[in-house]
Amino acid sequence: MTRPARAQINLANLQHNFSRVTQAAPNSRVMAIIKANAYGHGLVQVAQALAAADAFGVVGLDEAIGLREAGCESRIVLLEGTFSSADIALVCGYHLDVVVHALHQVELLERARLTRKVDCWLKVDTGMHRLGFAAQEVPAIAQRLSALAGAGTLRYMTHFACADEPGSAATGTQLACFNDITQGVTEQRSLANSAAILAWPDTHADWVRPGIMLYGSSPFADRSAAELDLKPVMTLRSELIAVHARHKGAAIGYGAAWVCEQDTRIGVVAMGYGDGYPRHAVSGTPVLVNEKRAALAGRVSMDMLCVDLGVNSDAQPGDEVILWGDALPVDEIARRSGTLAYELLCGVNRRVCYEYT
Ligand SMILES: *Cc1c(COP(=O)(O)O)cnc(C)c1O
Repeated sequence: MTRPARAQINLANLQHNFSRVTQAAPNSRVMAIIKANAYGHGLVQVAQALAAADAFGVVGLDEAIGLREAGCESRIVLLEGTFSSADIALVCGYHLDVVVHALHQVELLERARLTRKVDCWLKVDTGMHRLGFAAQEVPAIAQRLSALAGAGTLRYMTHFACADEPGSAATGTQLACFNDITQGVTEQRSLANSAAILAWPDTHADWVRPGIMLYGSSPFADRSAAELDLKPVMTLRSELIAVHARHKGAAIGYGAAWVCEQDTRIGVVAMGYGDGYPRHAVSGTPVLVNEKRAALAGRVSMDMLCVDLGVNSDAQPGDEVILWGDALPVDEIARRSGTLAYELLCGVNRRVCYEYT
């Protein structure tokens, strides 16, 4: 029998979350962000379920090519653009859009023989100070991109540092900076990630770029996905592979880091950090066993984790375990692990068996 660790991907919930994007930003086109294997959900399956999107955003050229080879004919945007001159032929060959965030990328385009018109998204640094051109550089860069022999359509974009903090002044400052730079331009513009789609309607512009909300996680620390009417797409499941009665004082797992406070029953689950479950999840993190909450006990191992089932539990090997998803928000597990759902979702790897419903 195959190991029971599996990720169930609910594509109807994915489509529901997509409809939350179009509801929140009804006048914008949608670039669905499916980088990092669609945040761990499976690139091609997610793209096929989101055929209503106006474009897809990925980072790897391999992901863009994978989409094309799977028959995807939608607009595909490389969010970090090109890395070397060899990429340009593939950009033309596979008809991809590129983000242009740095001068060396402009020079690559100028030197290349473009066999097709390339649509460029000029990335403006409005205050995040990661990628993009400073405000005063933008007009000259726009002019150079428009002057390319293979110039396609130019668009402007920026990215927010603090859109998940509704009280922060930073987003308003970035928005004002972007509006200032793009004042009077006729080209399309894009600013909003998930948090901005939900909390900053003034940023919606021509294109929104949802990522995490599509997968049913809340971009905000203080608002749950359910409150935002977002539904979990991935349910990470496994089974108990052993159940043992343990006496008060028994130490469980590596480092003997957790000790039974009373006589209890300990279940062993086939799921560990080698599958993408966070090793830093603390003891007490909830795990659903037969739909009831049990508590993670001791350190997460590579292939297994232990749960305290309680002395009266009748759970048996083979019983169902849910690590996150239906009835157990991934955001809650992320909080218990000192991280974000982003990291947990894209950390789930191919040792886990993926099932699509
Ligand atoms: C990843 C990414 C997004 C999506 O961000 P979420 O917070 O997941 O919605 C949007 N825009 C760019 C440029 C990105 O890299």
